[in-house]
Amino acid sequence: MPVQKTDAIVIRSYPFGEFHKIIIFYTSDFGKVRAAAYGVRGPKSRFGGSLELLNRGTLVFSERPNKDLRIVQEFGLTDAFDGIKADYDRTTYGCYLAELVNAIESEHSANQGVFRLLQHGFDGLTRVNDIALLARGFELKLLDITGFAPQLSQCVVCSSHPPRNTLRFSTRLGGVLCDDCTHNDSNAPILARGSCELMKFLRRCDLVHLDRVQASRLNHRELQLVLSRFISYHTELTLKSLELIEDLNSSQRM
Ligand SMILES: [Zn+2]
Repeated sequence: MPVQKTDAIVIRSYPFGEFHKIIIFYTSDFGKVRAAAYGVRGPKSRFGGSLELLNRGTLVFSERPNKDLRIVQEFGLTDAFDGIKADYDRTTYGCYLAELVNAIESEHSANQGVFRLLQHGFDGLTRVNDIALLARGFELKLLDITGFAPQLSQCVVCSSHPPRNTLRFSTRLGGVLCDDCTHNDSNAPILARGSCELMKFLRRCDLVHLDRVQASRLNHRELQLVLSRFISYHTELTLKSLELIEDLNSSQRM
């Protein structure tokens, strides 16, 4: 039974039998790893609370021949991200970032960029004020490093630099459209030039230092619409926690 050791973050868990749990980790060396934590729900669990959602630690797991499900042997907690868990909204956004990684990444494909991004996303969540904007930056960076990067600098059809103040964003075609090419996707919503520039900025900005930028309500509304549609289209998944928190946010802004 080969044993592996790696840095890992708990991105999902669900009950398994009376006393056990299946834990989904995102790991630095193996990408997404699904493993059974036996006895974790029992009264004398040797794991304590270390395997809670969003926790980071050193994972030791064993592999079994011809079985996808691994077994958690040890988990040495290194960061419980208390700064996130002390706040309900930050926790909800943290769960969303984890859910997004779980939805986009498949098992058996390691991407250290995704692991670093998740760590930076959680670090940012403990510090920045505009956590919705942090989620947009996280989405863009995750799309970029997993190969879904939307085209923002030039028209996705004719490659011209978009000439006017108002652009459109085509989910289906994968980026912005200039005025001459809008007929290629009549459903593409408007994206203000400022919102497009903000997306380009978020793509290269360090998530921990996001408070240097101010986003208007229009920016927030447009980025949320464009990116949620883009993610749903490319992952073919509806992200439950995103719908919940963004609905909550839009009702608070009214
Ligand atoms: Zn064009």
